[in-house]
Amino acid sequence: MKHFIVGPVEMYPCTKEIYKDGIVYFRTPEFSKIVLNCLSKLSCLIGNSEESSMIYLTASGTAAMEAVVENTVFDNDKVLVINGGTFGHRFCELLKYHNKNYESLNLSWGEALNEDLLNKFDNQNFTMLFVNLHETSVGQLYDIELLKRFCKKNNLLLVVDAISTFLADDYNMDKNGIDVTIASSQKGLCLSAGLSFVSVSKRIKEKILNAPNPSSCYFNFKDYFKNIERGQTPYTPAVHIIYELQAILNYIDSFGGKEKWLENIKQKAQYFRKKAQEFGYSIPKYPLSNMLTPLIFNDVKASDVVLELKDKYQIYVNPCGGEMADKLIRVSHIGNTNLQDIDDLFEKMNIVVGDLKNKELVYDRK
Ligand SMILES: *Cc1c(COP(=O)(O)O)cnc(C)c1O
Repeated sequence: MKHFIVGPVEMYPCTKEIYKDGIVYFRTPEFSKIVLNCLSKLSCLIGNSEESSMIYLTASGTAAMEAVVENTVFDNDKVLVINGGTFGHRFCELLKYHNKNYESLNLSWGEALNEDLLNKFDNQNFTMLFVNLHETSVGQLYDIELLKRFCKKNNLLLVVDAISTFLADDYNMDKNGIDVTIASSQKGLCLSAGLSFVSVSKRIKEKILNAPNPSSCYFNFKDYFKNIERGQTPYTPAVHIIYELQAILNYIDSFGGKEKWLENIKQKAQYFRKKAQEFGYSIPKYPLSNMLTPLIFNDVKASDVVLELKDKYQIYVNPCGGEMADKLIRVSHIGNTNLQDIDDLFEKMNIVVGDLKNKELVYDRK
């Protein structure tokens, strides 16, 4: 069995080890120390040099997106959302659900975000920009420099869902003037699902701390910031994933650090894309994250390719939702996979696609 899905991904042996020692009690100085050490390393990887700027939640990434909406957007705010797929749409839904004032820049399938599209939203009293920097549903990686320039020009706070780009592509909060970064355990970190991380700039942390309480009690960031000072959370965290986190951070160190880690993923992505071209698969033209490669199928149903790979070979790749469900599959390059796994995937995928094409031909003739 091999996972080429975007998350949870193929885990590393060092993080699977964690579970053999059973449970641990977490309201202890020892656990606090591990948490603080992990968050400080994570802040470093995320490129945020501000002290005490990261909290973590026991919840999946969407909960962190919702908590950020609740804790940072207020009556006098107006948010611009980059909506280029399922996750951009999710930000819109969350903002709408919480009665926040927002508009969205909608991209159609295949359309790349560019300066002209953004400039249409100049000088319209926006106060914040929300973006899923890598729109995982289609694989488009937006240009952070472009977004940074637009936010600076219009004086916007920049909120980034980096869940599927952090630890897959180069990412740096300080350098790019990013005010909020959302990350989660099951993607680039290659851990179990269940923890999400929120890293903030100084100015947005002040905004959060000085604002009225959000309507959610469990996700009141003020409590999280107060507790994290001593390495704790207001409520019981997913303790085991913190131990997994400690293990993977050490592993990334021993791997040679962030640059080497990213280089390895990039190598897998480039290898995959070169082979895809050699075999005649087609790949979208917009800029891609190294985290995954979308393949476009025109003569067989993409969803059938996903099913056949799973049922015949126990190989998991991601299908696509919505209008692209029959056209796209997404193959992830993060997690404990290597170039041989990619060779194997192509070998099996070529068989599956060949068989599906033959079936279509037989069907056509009938
Ligand atoms: C995976 C992902 C999420 C989080 O989804 P959950 O299922 O809630 O963990 C959010 N945003 C992006 C861009 C993602 O790729």
